[in-house]
Amino acid sequence: MNKKLATLIVKRLIEMYPDAKCSLDFSTPFEMLVAVCLSAQCTDDRVNKTTPSIFERYRTPQDFANANLNELEVLVHPCGFYKNKSKNLKAAGQIILSEFNGAVPQTMEELVRIPGVGRKSANVIMLEAFDNPQGIAVDTHCKRIANRLGFSKESEPSKIEKDLCKYIPKEYWKDVNHILIWHGRNICTSRNPKCEKCELKDYCKFKAKY
Ligand code: SF4
Repeated sequence: MNKKLATLIVKRLIEMYPDAKCSLDFSTPFEMLVAVCLSAQCTDDRVNKTTPSIFERYRTPQDFANANLNELEVLVHPCGFYKNKSKNLKAAGQIILSEFNGAVPQTMEELVRIPGVGRKSANVIMLEAFDNPQGIAVDTHCKRIANRLGFSKESEPSKIEKDLCKYIPKEYWKDVNHILIWHGRNICTSRNPKCEKCELKDYCKFKAKY
């Protein structure tokens, strides 16, 4: 991979998915944080169906900090891993109140101190809630496509992110966060990728196997 080819691939993906955007519903940075925590091992669609009833009952970090864990678990249940996610959301409310003056912090270093928020989630929050991308969120789609297209040979998300950031100019980081997910959902699926329909097949070594 090199910067020129990386830019060309990214531009082609932007043309393929001009409407690509975050598919989680939220109206405040804190709602974004809650939604992204719930989205671990769960579809965005399921999260969007679940958050309205959660936000009806719990809106602010204070609400979550004071939440009755059993009640919260019932509401979080449809998103899976409900015990862990509920515990983390309550703890997130507490730390946001005690250490960040009740507001979602706006740096990666601070965000990853919040229970349930890893580097991937922090990247999503910085981009979606604060329009200030600090890197590239490496989820399962991003990882697969980065490997297939030759952006990275690594398997560890933090190393894949480093490779992506090395080759892709910063001005495209915002788009890259969205277009790789959309490409992974629509064409470059985990099983049976639709290589024949893919506009990137001329640049992709992986497709040669099909
Ligand atoms: S050619 Fe196939 S493997 Fe390569 S990016 Fe396109 S869909 Fe994915």
